[in-house]
Amino acid sequence: MRRKIIAGNWKMNLDVQESILLANAIVQHEKGLIKQRDAKIILFPQIVNAHAVAHVLRDSDLKTGLQNISVHQFGVYTGEVSALAAKSIGCQYALVGHSERRNLYGETNDTCESKILTALNAGLKVIYCIGETLDERDSGEHFHIVEEQCKTALKNLDTEGIENIVLAYEPVWAIGTGINATPEMAQEMHAFIRGVVKSIFGQAIAQHISIIYGGSCNPSNAKSLFSCEDIDGGLIGGASLKSSEFLQIIESI
Ligand code: PEP
Repeated sequence: MRRKIIAGNWKMNLDVQESILLANAIVQHEKGLIKQRDAKIILFPQIVNAHAVAHVLRDSDLKTGLQNISVHQFGVYTGEVSALAAKSIGCQYALVGHSERRNLYGETNDTCESKILTALNAGLKVIYCIGETLDERDSGEHFHIVEEQCKTALKNLDTEGIENIVLAYEPVWAIGTGINATPEMAQEMHAFIRGVVKSIFGQAIAQHISIIYGGSCNPSNAKSLFSCEDIDGGLIGGASLKSSEFLQIIESI
């Protein structure tokens, strides 16, 4: 059975005290709700708050991740964040390819490939985000775009590498807009993505890899999305900033 994953992307929100409070409010449900649902929970605070959040989660199975890493491990790259240094403060995951990084900071599929390799070399696991814009969907290019995002960034991974990847299908038009993909649309794309993984890595890995959905997922729509065969959880933005909503989403698994 594939691992169910719920990840919270807090983006550039919350100061350190607020981050600690939110992490505490979630981790206290580890032995109850989170265990019952057998879900892996990963929190992505701002980088400046990652150490504090990792400290709150240190004795739990909940994980801390970074929203962005440098393609370089260390060096003369002012303002960049080292995956190795992040690992040393207790981070276990990196988010790569989020549409905000692609659209606002010009990250390409090639950049994503480099970041994935850097993260894996540092001993981090990766949530790799893929998804089409509205124009790309309207012009019928969405499958091709997502296939390219997968193939370019993943093609050179070995078996151990791909086993440390979670894919997040996040249609750009659904992120932060309140308009989620319907379960049918999401399921169709998740099944397609699993097929792409199969074409590169074979059936066993395609069946094993977790593919989660992101884009205006909330307590009202989570259950219908998560009940689809190929949707293995969610990457949650806005609704991860309130513990009550995030916990309700976990409950939907
Ligand atoms: C995201 O930014 O990854 C995301 C899914 O955001 P939201 O849930 O707010 O649409």
